[in-house]
Amino acid sequence: MPIEQRERTLVLIKPDGIQRSLIGEIIRRYEQTGLKLVGLKFLIPSEKTVKEHYLSNEGWLKSVGEKSMAAYEKKCLKSPYQDPVKCGEDVLGRLIKYLTSGPMVVMVWQGNEAVGVIRKISGGTEPLTSDVGTIRGDLTIDSYALGDTDERAVRNLIHASGSVGEAEKEIKIWFQDEEILKYRLVQESILYDVNLDGILE
Ligand code: ATP
Ligand code: MG
Repeated sequence: MPIEQRERTLVLIKPDGIQRSLIGEIIRRYEQTGLKLVGLKFLIPSEKTVKEHYLSNEGWLKSVGEKSMAAYEKKCLKSPYQDPVKCGEDVLGRLIKYLTSGPMVVMVWQGNEAVGVIRKISGGTEPLTSDVGTIRGDLTIDSYALGDTDERAVRNLIHASGSVGEAEKEIKIWFQDEEILKYRLVQESILYDVNLDGILE
């Protein structure tokens, strides 16, 4: 199989997605793209796993802090933080509470540009400003400001890996190698084969 068909990404349906009965809708949107589901679990994560998941991505604390501070600036508001790393540490504490609060669906999707395709459909981090047509933009309503007021994580239904490198590290945290299934989907010949042979009678 060519390398581009093997790109993989990790998706978590966070506890709010489960409680909002959106498992089917979210999987439907990803499935319709033609990407292949190669790993699937339903579990309540431990604090250790959530920490490992976010800290596996070097520089995440700083970048998550910078992103949320920039969102305030864009709206001409003042962030409650001055130091992005401090902001990131608080976000991590809130995320641990959020993700360990109930069951989650954990998935691996595979196919051409899997990381980018899944990020595009998922939408930006803050549901208030996520694009219309995306999962976060269409199916929920949270904002940084509301999360901060209540000192909790932004509830945005899903996590999706941000890059191929991040995906590789994250998948290893949630899945053993043998739990990722290797199989062929019939539709892959339509998506990837050079010639569309065998359609006409
Ligand atoms: P994810 O990694 O979940 O796909 P993302 O890459 O769009 O989202 P990150 O910047 O990695 O966003 O932040 C991880 C998660 O932390 C977000 O999805 C959100 O739930 C939460 N979060 C991010 N920034 C804040 C914040 N300032 N306040 C509260 N929660 C936040
Ligand atoms: Mg992220």
